[in-house]
Amino acid sequence: MSFPAPDPELALQYANGQRDATELFEEARRLRDERGRTITYSRKVFIPITTLCRDKCTYCTFAKPPGGGGEYLTPDDVMAIASAGQRHHCTEALLTLGDNPEDRWPQAREFLKSQGAATTLEYVEVMSERVVTETTLFPHANPGLMDDAAIAALRRTNVSMGLMLENISPRLMDPGMPHYDCPDKDPELRVATIEAAGRHSVPFTTGILVGIGETEAEVVDSLFALADLHAEWGHIQEVIIQNFRAKADTLMRKNEEPAVTYFATIVALARWIMGAEMNVQVPPNLTRDFGLYLDAGINDWGGVSPLTIDWVNPEAPWPHLDKLRQVTEASGFELRARLPVYPEFIDADWIDANLLDKVQNSIDVDGYAAVAEAVST
Ligand code: SF4
Repeated sequence: MSFPAPDPELALQYANGQRDATELFEEARRLRDERGRTITYSRKVFIPITTLCRDKCTYCTFAKPPGGGGEYLTPDDVMAIASAGQRHHCTEALLTLGDNPEDRWPQAREFLKSQGAATTLEYVEVMSERVVTETTLFPHANPGLMDDAAIAALRRTNVSMGLMLENISPRLMDPGMPHYDCPDKDPELRVATIEAAGRHSVPFTTGILVGIGETEAEVVDSLFALADLHAEWGHIQEVIIQNFRAKADTLMRKNEEPAVTYFATIVALARWIMGAEMNVQVPPNLTRDFGLYLDAGINDWGGVSPLTIDWVNPEAPWPHLDKLRQVTEASGFELRARLPVYPEFIDADWIDANLLDKVQNSIDVDGYAAVAEAVST
């Protein structure tokens, strides 16, 4: 008997443990294997453009106040990291940053003025341009909320962009919840950004954050919301399923992290709901036995850096690439390096004309990253 089509009620029964998930995991693996037995990763450097942010997510250690570590990288800092990435055969420059810091911090406004940029997004645009023209890397900007104009501007220099949905529930913005006083975490605005990316044909990375106080029903609703967005625009290139980690020095340091079996079930649900064509990713540095997510239907490990730390989770270094390959191959898969844009999105419909030649000169016949493929560590 074939497995049922994705259904919110059935999904909730799996998520809340009312239904044994053995068949769900089998279906997740079957769907993933329809794509073949390749597991991908992106060889990247992490460039924290600014650690200033106007939001106050209660699980975050990335954002810092001015004088307490909150600052911008100068253009020289950015280019030094990008150049080091090039020397280490990286292909992705992940530009990550706090959201709209200039709305909250005068120091942010001052820095931007010194750079001749009106907004942080404008500064990201200038840095993207330098990285893509002066190095072999491809920028992937993850700069928070973006409107149509910002997406159109960044598309000229970014082969893909990203914004985690995190969760579709506005309840998480209520007083006492992790997104209270976080204007950029309004799910309506995040959906609007993902839709804007769809309108501009931007290969887009998004996903959910599991374990920050949401209910199982809200997780299920979030996954179906992403499936609806992709059904409308076809632009979601990957869905990240990320587990909450309780970090020292945060208000949520004592909150329970999601149990591994529960989290793996959510990963399998994501594969079932998003379907065989979606790239489903779990970051390998946030769980010790990360190989078990191969059994839940993932096909990607995301960005892995041979060089820079994970600034969002600095306590959790990425596994060495040799270890990633060993775990992947031990489960019967081939590990391959991809660009920050997946092979199925590499054409003139999805990549700006300014970038297409560079992309095509950087891939092998299968659309994977030619340079990064040639090195294993
Ligand atoms: S998680 Fe992102 S939006 Fe929230 S405080 Fe940290 S940097 Fe800002």
